[in-house]
This record gives sequence, structure tokens and C-alpha cells, in this order.
Amino acid sequence: MHNFEKKNTNTAMNDMYATFVRHVLAPLDAFRQDSDHYTILEKLRKSQYASAEELRELSLAKLNATVSYAFEHCPFYRKSFSKVGYQVGEALDEKTFLKLPTLSKRDIQENLADLRSDEFAVEDLIANQTGGSTGEPLKFYLDQPRAVSRLAATLRHDEWADYRPGDKVGLLWGAAQDFADETNLKVRLRNKLLDRTLVLNAVSLSTGVMTDYYKKLCEFQPKVLLAYAHTVYVFAQFLRSRDLKVPSPKSIITSAELLSPEERKVIEEVFGSEVFDRYGCREVSIIASECSSHDGLHVNAENIYLEILKGEHPAEKDEIGEIVLTDLENRGMPLIRYRIADSAEWVDSDAPCDCGRTLPRIRITGGRVNEFLVTANDRLVAGTALTIFLSTEIPGVAQMQLYQKEAGEVTVRVVADESGVDEATLKAKAHSFLGDDMRITIEYKEYIPREVSGKYRFSISEVASEYIGKRES
Ligand SMILES: [Zn+2]
Repeated sequence: MHNFEKKNTNTAMNDMYATFVRHVLAPLDAFRQDSDHYTILEKLRKSQYASAEELRELSLAKLNATVSYAFEHCPFYRKSFSKVGYQVGEALDEKTFLKLPTLSKRDIQENLADLRSDEFAVEDLIANQTGGSTGEPLKFYLDQPRAVSRLAATLRHDEWADYRPGDKVGLLWGAAQDFADETNLKVRLRNKLLDRTLVLNAVSLSTGVMTDYYKKLCEFQPKVLLAYAHTVYVFAQFLRSRDLKVPSPKSIITSAELLSPEERKVIEEVFGSEVFDRYGCREVSIIASECSSHDGLHVNAENIYLEILKGEHPAEKDEIGEIVLTDLENRGMPLIRYRIADSAEWVDSDAPCDCGRTLPRIRITGGRVNEFLVTANDRLVAGTALTIFLSTEIPGVAQMQLYQKEAGEVTVRVVADESGVDEATLKAKAHSFLGDDMRITIEYKEYIPREVSGKYRFSISEVASEYIGKRES
């Protein structure tokens, strides 16, 4: 590996390790210290049942406070909001808010200093970063109170899945970065969590590794399994193929990777547990998660103002669009109308959720914007769902990824097992979704790598974003 790359990777690793510690280890510490977050958690427990009108008022009040703060204290926003005629003291609503420009990952990379608030010294902020889609790290900052409110929000969503700090938890974790210093990780986990956590490094899952994890889970018997969605699915398939039974955790929280209905079904059957899907990111922490009704993911609306855009306009109900996020709490470096490049649709808000919570719900349908494939006649097909369908329908596929360089064509990357793949059937099934005029090429691989973040990408399109009507971020 080139020296420069190595250095970069190490920085990313250290940082992600820190994030891991913060997300996983900090909750217990904070409880012990009896910090502010418990008060925030109490509020969040109440507001999740507030009336739609109360929630809207709260959300707009926080949105306006965030915008005017950013205008006053961040040079980047002062400039960009001035350009669109924003006035100090102006009360924005859902419609007028749309005039503010969106923020791309590139905007953040190029304007980091000007996005920070002039009220904070950089050393008083918590630096964090995430892997950009192109591999360049995306750096950002949090203020201390935001770190606390993120923690409180995560705990609220944990509760929906019946997980409380101190419960035994198994982590089936896929991010290689978080295991950069595994010995240190184990020591810290032991010290902090008093052996309440079983860490299973799922970066590469061989038969030997999975057999070992099976034994460990039988012995440890976690109440909750927190896992990368696709990873726990692969593990479930392994258990099923060998007829191995593990004690059922009360719940399995899946995150970091898109969970398909087919994968959920397999995981629930094999483990005999309820699966709670979750959506979040390092930039703003928990965004949405499932309640016990499993009908969409309730948005963490007290902390995040979430928009779904189709082009520059709000998406209609049941229309897939791009997620745009505003962090309502982070003053250190406000993120306003941040294009995270994931897609979702609103769950019909006229029908309240059976759980009684009023927080709006979204459905993460296609995952990242650039997972959609553009057909020869400009139709968009959810690439991830197609990959999962093809790899379960076609015998002999060990791993699959769809890659699209231009509209109207796609390369099916396949890792075949010893039985081999019937190419004609594969192409016929793919054509039935993508149209007969789609050019389909099959390419055999030894191995399909995950991203730096540890996420497995089922489908990558270089052209989807412009078809969904967004600029490149
Ligand atoms: Zn609900």
C-alpha cells in the first residue's frame, strides 16, 4: 500500500474507532455520571407522543433557531443565505425554507472552517469523520451538548427495540476500521462494559469464523444483537444451512446496510427474534428507526429536520426521493439541508402508527441514490433489490454486485461458487426487470470488496444521481 493511503486510512480508523467507542461505550458512562442526557431522554420519551401540531411547532421553532444562528455565526451560511435573500428574524415555514440552498458533501469538504461557528474554538469541538463515497474522508465537528443529545436520542430509539444500557449485547460489526486495534478494543470493552458486550468482528466471515461465532453466541446469550444488516443475514444463512440453533435474542437491531424484506425474513426465522431496522449516519447520528409495529421508521424529528426531495421539490407521498437533513441541535458546525445521498419515501402520515407515536415515518426503499440503475428508456430500477433477487434466484452465486457506468447498460459482477452460474437464466431474469434493450455484461470476480466503512454495496450507478435530479455530492 502506498504510504499516503496508509496514513489516511489510519486516521480514518482511529477516528471511527473513537466513534464506535462513543456510540457503544459512552451510554453506560453517561448513565453512571448522571449527565444532562437523562433529562433530554425524558423529554424525548414524552415528545414522541405529542400531537402532530405540537411536533410541527417544535420542529419549525428549532429550524428557525438553527438557521438564524448559522446565519449569524457561520461565514459559509451568511454568504449562501444572503444570496437567496434570507433576512435575519425571518420566520421560515416548510415552504419558504426551500429557498435555502442545499449543502453537498463537497461543500463541506471545501468550506470546513467557514461552516464552523465563530462562537467555538476548534479545540472545544469534537472532530469526527466519515468515508465519502469516493473514499475521501468527510470531516465535521460536533459541539459537546450535541454529543449528549445524540446519545439521548440513540437511547430513546434503543428502548423501542427493548435495549437498555447494561443489557447484554452482541455486536456483529462489519467496519474494519473499528477493529484497527482489536486488543485495545477488547480491553476497553471489558473495562467499560463489565463483560456485557460480545464483539464479533464480521469484517470477513469465513465458515471457520462463523462456527466460532455460533459457539460464542450460544455461550454468551445476548439480549440484543446489534448488527450490520447484510452481515447478520449472511450469518443467518450459514446457521440455517448447517441446521445450527442459537438462543434467540429478544431483538436484533440492524443498521449500516440496507435491509431487504427477504433478508429480514431469513434473519427472523433463523434467530427467532424480532428485527428492528435503523437508519443513521455519523454526521447526525440516529435519523430514524422502527418501533414494534415495523411499518416504516419513525424519524428522530426533535433533533433532525428531514426532507425528501424529488428534484428541488418535496416528494409526494409514496414517491421515492432524496433525503436532505438539517441537524436541529449542533451549533458547533450546523448542517443545514445536507444532501446525504440516500433515498426514502414518506409513509402515509394520515394513518397513525399502531404504536401511538406521532413521529413521522419514512421507508428506506432503495438505499443510496446511486444504487438506482437507469434503464435504456430512463426508468429507475432499485439496484439493491434487484441484486438480492438475482442472487437468491440464480443458483451458484456466492456474491453479486451491479455496476453501471452509463444509462442503458449494467455489468453484473459475480463471485461464483463451484457449481457455476447459468448465464442465460441470469440475463433473462435481469432483462425482465431492466427491459430487453438493457445491455448486460457478466464479469466474474474472485472477491467483491466492501467499502472502507465496511458496508457492502449491492449496486453502484455512476449516473443515477443526475437522473434523480440532484447535483453530484
Ligand atoms: Zn410506531
